[in-house]
Amino acid sequence: MGSKIIPYIDREVIEWRWWSDNKLISFQLFASCFLIDGLLVDASAPGSETDLRKWVTTLRGKNIINSCYLTHFHEDHAGGAPMLKKEFDIPIYASTLTVPYLKKGYKYRFYRKTYWGRHGQKQIEVEPTEGPIITKSGNYSFELFPMPGHSPDLTALVDKKNQIAFVGDAIMYKYGYTFGGSSADLYEDISQIYNSQKSLYKITEGMDNLKIFVAHVGMVNRNFIAEKMKEIEDLHTKAHKIQKELIDIGYRRQSKIVKEIIRKIWRKGELLQFKILSMGEISRANLVATLLKWPLDS
Ligand SMILES: [Zn+2]
Repeated sequence: MGSKIIPYIDREVIEWRWWSDNKLISFQLFASCFLIDGLLVDASAPGSETDLRKWVTTLRGKNIINSCYLTHFHEDHAGGAPMLKKEFDIPIYASTLTVPYLKKGYKYRFYRKTYWGRHGQKQIEVEPTEGPIITKSGNYSFELFPMPGHSPDLTALVDKKNQIAFVGDAIMYKYGYTFGGSSADLYEDISQIYNSQKSLYKITEGMDNLKIFVAHVGMVNRNFIAEKMKEIEDLHTKAHKIQKELIDIGYRRQSKIVKEIIRKIWRKGELLQFKILSMGEISRANLVATLLKWPLDS
C-alpha cells in the first residue's frame, strides 16, 4: 500500500491519495479524497481503512474532519466512510440517489479487489442532502449538481464564489474505456457523461480561476472540461463514420462492426490488461457500443 498527501492552493485543499501494492497490478491506479476546511469529499477505498485512520488522526485545527460528502457510491470513493462514521463519528452525506446503493453494501469482482481491497463495500447509512454544503468556518458553500453518466448518482460540488469544484469521476483523464457489458452495478453512458460535462461547463461560465478537483487526476482548470468534451465528440464522430463505411461495404453484425471500429481507432493492445483483468467489465467495446447508441445529430 502507499499513500501521499498533496496540498493545493496554499494548503486550502489537501488531497489524500491511496493505492494498493498488489502484485497483480500492472497499471497503477490511485483513489483520491479531498479535504477543504473540515469537509472531506469522498472517503477512499475499503482497502485504505488502516492508512486512512492513521492520516485522519494526524489532522489538526481547521483540517479536523467534521463532515464527509460522497460524490457517488463506487467503492473507491465510499470505502472508508463506514470507518469514519463509526470511529470518528463523522456524518456522511450524499445525494438521495447514492443512499440506497450503500444501505446494503456490496461485493465486487476480483480485479476490483486487487485495486480497492478484498473485503468489498461495507454497508453504511448515509444522510441524503440537496445542499448547499457549508464548511466548518463558513468560508465555503458548495452547491450540488447532478452529473450522471459515470454512475447514475454522481454529484459535483461547486462553490461559485471561491471558484472551487469537486467532481469525483465526472471527468476522466482519457476516454478509451467505459464500464458496462456484464456488470449491473457499473454501467457508463458516454452521452450522459458528455451532457453532464457540458452543463458543468455552462454552470461555470466566466469562472476563469476555477479549480476543479478530479479523482484519479488531481487539480485541473475549466479548459480541461472543454478538452474532454472535444475528445468525446471526436470519438463519437469517428465511431459513427467508421460504422457507416463498414455498413456500406457489407458489414451487418453489430459485434463485428464494434470490433472493427476498435481496431481502426486505437493502437493494437493498448491498455489491453484492463479488459482482460476486468473480464470485460471495463472495455473499449462497451465504450463503442454506447457511442453508437448515441445518435450523431443529438
Ligand atoms: Zn466511480
